[in-house]
Amino acid sequence: MSFPVSILATGSELLDGRVVDTNSNFVAQALSECGLKLQRVLLVDDDRSELVAGLRELSSVSRLIITSGGLGPTTDDLTRDIVSEFFGVGLYEEPKARTHLEGFLKKRGRVLDSSNIKQAYLPVGSEMIPNELGTAPGFTMVRGDGLVVCSLSGVPREFKKMFTDSVLPLIMERAQNAQRLQKVSFKTFGMPESYVGQVIERCALPEQVIVSYRAAMPEIHVRLKAVESFDLSASVEKVRAALGPSLIFSEDPQQSFFERLQELLLQKRATIATAESCTGGLIAEYLTRTPGSSEVFLGSVVSYDNAVKEKVLQVPGGVIAQHGAVSAEVVRIMAREVRNLMGATFGVAVSGVAGPGGGTDEKPVGTFFIGIAGPERSFELRCFYGSERSIIRTYAAYVTLDLVRRELQGHPIPSSYPIGA
Ligand code: ATP
Ligand code: MG
Repeated sequence: MSFPVSILATGSELLDGRVVDTNSNFVAQALSECGLKLQRVLLVDDDRSELVAGLRELSSVSRLIITSGGLGPTTDDLTRDIVSEFFGVGLYEEPKARTHLEGFLKKRGRVLDSSNIKQAYLPVGSEMIPNELGTAPGFTMVRGDGLVVCSLSGVPREFKKMFTDSVLPLIMERAQNAQRLQKVSFKTFGMPESYVGQVIERCALPEQVIVSYRAAMPEIHVRLKAVESFDLSASVEKVRAALGPSLIFSEDPQQSFFERLQELLLQKRATIATAESCTGGLIAEYLTRTPGSSEVFLGSVVSYDNAVKEKVLQVPGGVIAQHGAVSAEVVRIMAREVRNLMGATFGVAVSGVAGPGGGTDEKPVGTFFIGIAGPERSFELRCFYGSERSIIRTYAAYVTLDLVRRELQGHPIPSSYPIGA
């Protein structure tokens, strides 16, 4: 038995292009994880007749309708009125909703007023859906024939929490065909999506295995899915071996590239210091994203001007004059000196041409040099990624950190990074 779920998203801002309907996208992803599919998404204006017509239309093709938005205190927030009209019931003041509202407002130094109190009114016969992150609670209504309507706040973080905590369990309970899928993720960095795709294709996985790709640039994520009764282990082994341990930085879907690096640095009790030119501190920013980064990250010298490279990082003016600031010779010294200056396990340095100006035939925009000075060895890598400024900088920062990851894991250092091609 299929269990069609639809969304009625209200808001003039969704129809005039001011806001993108990310709530539906979130539901679509969550349902697909459970082997279910969204039946329909309808975007309507904050308008009575549009809302009623929308509910009617969706009720003819759905078993469960989620409404998004229109639960606020203003006059254009019509959802609770429309849903009660659709079910032919009135509204009542829900004491739990009132208590929640009063508590929520009190914490922010406000009191319940005549417009806010509207949010404590729910359709007669409904069950309240708590909204821990906002004022307006949602509610669930069930019709005699089993049709369910769940009304949620439109504010994305509130919507997501309410959906995940209250609506998804209800869908799973009712959708008898909803199969929990087992999933395995491989997060990679260092090769383009086309290459990763070819590697997986050559694995010739059984048809029960669904493969999906996500280009979370500059990372490429691969996911294998199958119903729980299927033995996925052989496919997982095959893919793991085909991609190889140097390309895969994590198999934990929740773990970021930077968290993985921090984990490896902690395991080796290693620290890192950065000397950054074209990345302007971006590597330091990446390294400090994860709580606990002070255990592994010592500091950074943003040596943007050549004078800073010379005075702070002891790069001789002659070396800059001879090879240019964007050169292997310069990043070698920058990495070594920042490592010494800060007493770090790894000193890393980047210098490049991020553009749009400043490129030459020899060093076009997108050329960057990375220097790594480690406890066992030091090396430099020349990379090229012809793109726009922000992407070049992102890639340069990623490649630098990926080289440290590979050093920590004892993987070979590639001669180039053909990322994103
Ligand atoms: P509020 O109490 O804030 O009025 P609400 O439940 O009435 O909440 P809306 O007024 O429709 O919800 O929207 C609240 C905020 O969430 C707005 O900033 C709106 O742009 C945004 N929003 C609404 N619907 C969506 C959606 N489908 N996707 C993404 N953002 C949305
Ligand atoms: Mg509103």
